[in-house]
Amino acid sequence: KAKKHLGQHFLTDENIARKIVEGLSCEHYNNVMEVGPGMGVLTKYLLEKDQTVYLAEIDTESIEYLKNHYPKIGEQTFVGDFLKQDFDFIHGEQIAIIGNFPYNISSQILFKIIDYYELVPEMVGMFQKEVAERTAAVPRTKDYGILSVLVQAYYDVKYLFTVHENVFNPPPKVKSGVIKLTRNPKEGLAGNEILFKQIVKAGFNQRRKKLSNALKVLNIPEAMKTHEFLDKRAEELSVSDFIAFTILWKQNQ
Ligand code: SAM
Repeated sequence: KAKKHLGQHFLTDENIARKIVEGLSCEHYNNVMEVGPGMGVLTKYLLEKDQTVYLAEIDTESIEYLKNHYPKIGEQTFVGDFLKQDFDFIHGEQIAIIGNFPYNISSQILFKIIDYYELVPEMVGMFQKEVAERTAAVPRTKDYGILSVLVQAYYDVKYLFTVHENVFNPPPKVKSGVIKLTRNPKEGLAGNEILFKQIVKAGFNQRRKKLSNALKVLNIPEAMKTHEFLDKRAEELSVSDFIAFTILWKQNQ
């Protein structure tokens, strides 16, 4: 029986499962981690690949099921709660991430991937449609926000396809969306991450206001007070604009 508090909705459509796994390009890395394999609908296609597969699953009943049904899975490939991973077990190698993610921890999963972007060249995953759309959103749209800018500072995001509620057991309340992230960290970000996050968050927390107002909480450096971006709203700035603005801010602090 599916456990609601673990976000368990099991995909029942094999074609969609295969399509998700085919979303991985499988270049430049030897390892793949699946978050929340559940009953293995994606796992069985992953096991056909050349990469070493790691499974992050917190539900012991699912782990037992997987071990019984897929003899190829060894004891050593289970790594437990994804949010607690430090990725030490891959010893600095590259690892791709895939999953039909538990929706209650969607943004935590995305932020975790960003934190470890140096180890994670790509991710293919299913989120609730709204989160997938927000991650992939472009400037001047209502979906463009903190999630879009923070993820796109490190990854190119592609919205792959939408998945209907009725191909899950039990069906979730909302549609799902599959996205692919391909690592492409924007220049100039390194060393400025904390300030960058502060500016993006403060800007979008009051997204109807001009940045001159929304960023007041951060004490805008004197020399920046006439910057043209302050006359705009956060949603009018591209990811590169946010980064350029952050670098200038740091220099004037
Ligand atoms: N991959 C399966 C499928 O497509 O049918 C299951 C997907 S289900 C939406 C999400 C899975 O994530 C569940 O199996 C759940 O037990 C697992 N899960 C929940 N929280 C987790 C966490 N923090 N770390 C790893 N797995 C988690």
